[in-house]
Formats: sequence, structure tokens, C-alpha cells
Amino acid sequence: MSQPAVSGALAAYAVSEANTRGRRYPEAAPAYRGEFQRDRDRIIHCAAFRRLEYKTQVFVNHEGDLFRTRLTHSLEVAQLGRSVARALRLNEDLTEAISLAHDLGHTPFGHSGQHALNKCMHEYGGFEHNLQSLRVVDVLEERYAEFPGLNLSFETREGILKHCSREKAKELGELGERFLENRQPSLEAQLANIADEIAYNNHDVDDGLRYGLIGIDQLMEVELFAREYAELERRYPDLTMRRRVHETVRHMINRVVVDLIEHTSEQLAAAKVQSVDDVRRAGRPLFAYSDDVATEVLRLKRFLRENLYSHYRVRRMSRKAAALIKELFDAFMKDPQLLPPQYQGKLPGRRETPAQCARVIADYIAGMTDRYAIQEHARLFNPAELTWGR
Ligand code: MG
Repeated sequence: MSQPAVSGALAAYAVSEANTRGRRYPEAAPAYRGEFQRDRDRIIHCAAFRRLEYKTQVFVNHEGDLFRTRLTHSLEVAQLGRSVARALRLNEDLTEAISLAHDLGHTPFGHSGQHALNKCMHEYGGFEHNLQSLRVVDVLEERYAEFPGLNLSFETREGILKHCSREKAKELGELGERFLENRQPSLEAQLANIADEIAYNNHDVDDGLRYGLIGIDQLMEVELFAREYAELERRYPDLTMRRRVHETVRHMINRVVVDLIEHTSEQLAAAKVQSVDDVRRAGRPLFAYSDDVATEVLRLKRFLRENLYSHYRVRRMSRKAAALIKELFDAFMKDPQLLPPQYQGKLPGRRETPAQCARVIADYIAGMTDRYAIQEHARLFNPAELTWGR
């Protein structure tokens, strides 16, 4: 066995190579890397990871070069996750692997894309980005000679599957068990989930201000923002707006991260957690903010929902995106021979059921970047695109 390549000694409640449930297809241990480093490396080298560069959550990719994309979002999640993991002596490599993979299954155009594809798939088993992330790493990535997907460790896959209905859980074997038995995932998985939320809450404030969809005066209703902003104004009255906004967001992140580390440490001590099994049986997630910070974070989320995600300009873009996804789906369902050859090759043959056909189409659409979806739509629907091109 190779040595786990993590900095410092792991806590007893961390996932480690000594307590991992391993891979679906057994492989020899890597020579100079840890098992979770290998997971992280496989994720970074996969095609779905590269596509994250041209997928977005709230803003569409071509709206500006300074906005976050799903790729930069995933890097921010990994950075936050690693910092907290190191402070609590959790497995940094595992936290990083889950963080980098958590958005791999997202459709183009963020939540409106996911919602539209789920509607299209209503009769065929639905579409859920979280399950799709798992499908990407388990099935859709075609890279290795000896197994489908990336053959990631159980704990990385468990972390990717954040939530799941009971119905789906029954189909997922050992990965679905915890949803049926009401057990918690590892602390590393809990951490990646919270790091995701910290990253998007804060970068949506930053991007929303930059894009002019929300204003400082509105944000002054949000305690988490207002307190830091007022303090910076007092200490540095002449600071430019750009630097003041950045400093405010930086302080907001620091407040929630420090609180998360301290409150979680207290919870772990109070629950006398000694092992990964104790974490799984704890009955509730042990990763949590203090009550005060949890309330402040909820208020920020509500603010973003009411003012940013439902801004009329965001809604107009979402409406267009949803229509585009539906038109693509309907065209391919009507005539699957419009699919490019590599996807036609995935159709099981003449006797395929509509559900099998719909799943191949959903995989194709979900894998598209924002700009690819726009191009593909033009190739199918815009007569000016009548060329022999792709
Ligand atoms: Mg995310």
C-alpha cells in the first residue's frame, strides 16, 4: 500500500486509505500518490471537467469574461473545502476530489437548463444534475481500458451524490443505502456540500454587483454584508468601490468559514465522534454553523433568491434557455437520426424504448456547454446555418 499523501496526521473521524470502501473495479494501489489524489487527478483530466469552463450558474457564459463559470466555481469550492479540511484534520484530497466533481452533471444554462431538461424527461425517469454528476463519473466518461467511467473510490462517489429520492436510492445499491437508512455521509462530503454553498452565496453577491443586478443599498438589508461593509467604510473611507466590495466579500467568507470550523469542532467533541462510522450514525450532519451565523446565511440566501435569481433580466435569459433546451430535446426525440454519430451509437438499436432514447438525448444535452447548446440550436433551427458543416 502506498502512503496516504495528505499533510499532517488525519483525525480518527476522517476518511483514509485504511477505512475506504474502495473502488467498484479493484485496481493496484498507485505508486506515488494516495487513492484520493488519484480520484482528484482523474476528475481534472476528464472531458466533463473541461466543459465546466463554458457552463454557468446564473449568468450565461458569453455575458462577460469576469463572471464565475462552473469551472472557477468548482475551484473556489475546492479551495474553501481544503482550508477547512486541513483545519479539522480531515482528508484534503477527498474533499478536493468531491468539490471538483460536484457540478460535472450540470446542464448548460444553470438551473433553468436543469429544470427544462427535467420537464422534458418527466415521462422517462426525470433528470437531476446530482445523479447526472454520478452518471458522468460512473458511466459516461469513456477513457480507461478496464472499466467504464473513472472508477472513483466509494467515498468520492458518495460525496458527489448529495441528495437522492428513496425511489432512486433503491436502484443505486450500496451508494443509495444511506438515504434509505437515514445515515450521514463522511465529514468530507458534508464539508464539500457546505463549501459549495459558501462559494456561490458570496460570488453571486460579487457577480451580481458587477453586473448591476443588485446594488449596495439593497445589500445593506443583509446583516452579513452590511456589518462588514460599514466597518470597512469606517476604517478605509477613501477605498475605491471595487476594493471595498472585494474586501467585504472576503470578510463575509472569513466570518462563515471561521464559524464553521469552530462550531463543527465543538459538535464533534460534544458527540464524542471517534470514527467514520460514528459520523455516519450521528443522526444529523455534524458540519454546521452556529445558530447566529446559520440565520445570517439564510437571510443572505433569501435576499439572493428574491433579488438576484428572480431579477427580470435573469428570468428573461432563463426563459430563452428553457425554450432552447426543450426545442433541442423535442427535435432529437422526433428524429434521433439528427444526433451526431457517437450518440446514435449509444442507442440500443431498432427496438429501443422511448425511455432509452430519451436518456441518450438527455446525456447529450446535459453534456453541452452554454455556447455549444446555442450553436447546436442554430444548426438545427436557423436556415442561415444551412451548410455541410457539423
Ligand atoms: Mg456548485
